[in-house]
Amino acid sequence: MNLDSTIVAPATGNVISALGIVRLSGKEAIRIISEVFVLNNGKGFIKIYKANHLYYGTIQDSNKVIDEVVLSVFLSPHSFTGEDTIEITHHGSLFIQSEIIKLLIRHGATMAQRGEFSMRAVLNGKMNLSQSEAVADVISSNTLSSLSLALSQLRGKYNEELTLLREQFLNIASLLELEIDFSAEQEVFVDRKDLENKLLKAKDLLTSLTLSFSKGNAFKNGLPVAIIGKPNSGKSTLLNAILKDERAIVSSTAGTTRDTIEESIQIGGLLVRFIDTAGIRNEGDEIEKQGIKRSFAAINRASVVLLLFDASTDNIQSIKELEKYIKTQININNKRIIIVINKNDTSKLSKTDIEILQKNKAVFISAKTSENIEQLENEIIKDYAKEDLNAKVFVTNLRHYEALSKALQEVNEALTATTSGISSDLISENIRSATNYLGEITGEITTADILQNIFSKFCIGK
Ligand code: GDP
Repeated sequence: MNLDSTIVAPATGNVISALGIVRLSGKEAIRIISEVFVLNNGKGFIKIYKANHLYYGTIQDSNKVIDEVVLSVFLSPHSFTGEDTIEITHHGSLFIQSEIIKLLIRHGATMAQRGEFSMRAVLNGKMNLSQSEAVADVISSNTLSSLSLALSQLRGKYNEELTLLREQFLNIASLLELEIDFSAEQEVFVDRKDLENKLLKAKDLLTSLTLSFSKGNAFKNGLPVAIIGKPNSGKSTLLNAILKDERAIVSSTAGTTRDTIEESIQIGGLLVRFIDTAGIRNEGDEIEKQGIKRSFAAINRASVVLLLFDASTDNIQSIKELEKYIKTQININNKRIIIVINKNDTSKLSKTDIEILQKNKAVFISAKTSENIEQLENEIIKDYAKEDLNAKVFVTNLRHYEALSKALQEVNEALTATTSGISSDLISENIRSATNYLGEITGEITTADILQNIFSKFCIGK
């Protein structure tokens, strides 16, 4: 990427609409636009333009009018990219848009690469790297919770937390330097307990940030919920009741849902991704066995597992047996298992069985009559509904999670070294690496490769 070039790209999507926007940014933006834009009042644009003003006129290729447009003018450094920027609002035809872009390119602009506007904003100090990622998240948000988190990251709440962490690292580093400076004195100059406390503080903050990722990821990308149970327990019917349509096939023949079906809905502002799996049983033909294998793989991706039973045929023994079997087949760490007793409308469960199940927090429903479906939905999102997304910071980005995890590992190594009396310069190295990992998140420390990799995931014009 060449920062001296002036870039152009559509800022609006590839659809016909009332209006569209083409954005032009860079040192030559004013020169280029003045060559193709003619003000309606007959004045010369180049003589009168001012920052933060709108101008009405036409885009012309020689004397051929391409469209009537409104220009918004932003001058460096007061623009999104920090450069001179012109936004051309034109009639929303894709043909007009491409004609305008081609014309601007003929006058010296270059087509922007993916994410190049955002990347320039970062390189020109208008925002840091994690904020630019938040812009992308705001644009792609599809639920209230994903939007809230992206906005709070954009407003810098997340950065405050990282700054706090950085300060802790600097604190530790200065203590260590003191010790290295006085190492000739053969005395332990810095209180090891003090150092350990500071490291523990950093460790706590890093641990809570990395732990927030699993929830943060669910808020951003949806909470994966697997519905499992024996064939005919009512998995498809339940999915339909939740989705309130007839997408999954409901059939009274065992084993027809041979593959997994995934459907997403919003519950209380959270995107919930339901995975309906093939029935779990130990018999059946080869195709069905494959389906069951896929079921277990799908279940392992889920954060919440609905273990579905049939109140008209199951009893406490069969319920316990299946629960035990499932727990041997899947990794139950970090998963919430909810026992769901379906077909409560034709229940043959004994009073004692019901009492035992109630003690185990089972939810009694009827997928067929929609009894207690809302209660079940609330149970699924319980841990998420109570979170205040404006008050607490959640890590939502895998790149950040990885950097924080590596920083945590360095801090842990530093802690072990401190308590086992290893010399300060080695501990100092750990802290330096941890600080660098933090810098990768905000963009203080980045290589061209990292930048390229991040922004290539953005779309053109962003
Ligand atoms: P799956 O194999 O687990 O997906 O089960 P299905 O959803 O295909 O349901 C199997 C049968 O049980 C169908 O005939 C459904 O109509 C019936 N069924 C599902 N839920 C209920 C319920 O809550 N009450 C009653 N009475 N029947 C149900």
